[in-house]
Amino acid sequence: MNLLLYGAPGSGKGTQANMLRTHFGITHVATGDMLRAEIQAGTPLGRQAQPILAAGQYVSDDIMIAMIRNRLRQPDCARGFIMDGFPRTVPQAKALDSLMHTLGRPLDRVIYLKVETDELLRRLSGRLVCPLCQRTYPPATAKCEADGGALVQREDDKAEAVKPRIEVYLHKTVPVLDHYRGAGLVSEIDGRGTIEEISRQVLAAVASPLVGNGKVVSPLAGRSAAKPGGGEDHPGTTTPKAQKA
Ligand code: ADP
Repeated sequence: MNLLLYGAPGSGKGTQANMLRTHFGITHVATGDMLRAEIQAGTPLGRQAQPILAAGQYVSDDIMIAMIRNRLRQPDCARGFIMDGFPRTVPQAKALDSLMHTLGRPLDRVIYLKVETDELLRRLSGRLVCPLCQRTYPPATAKCEADGGALVQREDDKAEAVKPRIEVYLHKTVPVLDHYRGAGLVSEIDGRGTIEEISRQVLAAVASPLVGNGKVVSPLAGRSAAKPGGGEDHPGTTTPKAQKA
């Protein structure tokens, strides 16, 4: 199963990606984490990327596409993946389409976590993160509840970087959603409730049939369950029970 988590900075992609990774036992591919690891290791790419991340801007499409091309060819992605943070531009989305085509592994679903801009700004300002497990916490939280470790503020969660991040998202990343809506792959989730409520909706969306380009397909049935007329693009009322992959 190949899933893509789509949403603005602060929409909860990382949290839901971790839930999906645990639930389905598939690999979490997070380009932001990959870039931060390069920065931490002081690689040439990390040195190049550091000021770009700190300013809330995007690393170039060429670099990001090459990074994902290498990552998806690694054996731990063979059973499937949850992608978080890529694609962030339409050229990246097109490159991913052709890569998935080459690998013979279609994208099964795009989960869109929808959160209003005011709420995003509120969540990002002063947010703290555990450097070990990447869990995020509200300002003034003492320590990570999973690791007990000290929390830090991400450089791009500082006030001066938060607004540019949202602006670049609105300008460059919102068109990516239209790209996938056109392909009939998007399930939209209200990203405002509790983490548990949102997780339930995400799992229901993944398990529900998808209406795409006139075909009804189920990602859990290997995209073969053609069934005219059924299915819905939004989880909710029917809430089919999620299954393990
Ligand atoms: P968030 O979604 O909260 O902004 P991420 O951890 O996904 O955080 O990304 C952090 C930063 O890494 C982005 O602001 C950007 O600078 C860079 N980045 C990550 N993925 C990409 C990408 N696909 N294209 C360009 N830049 C990226």
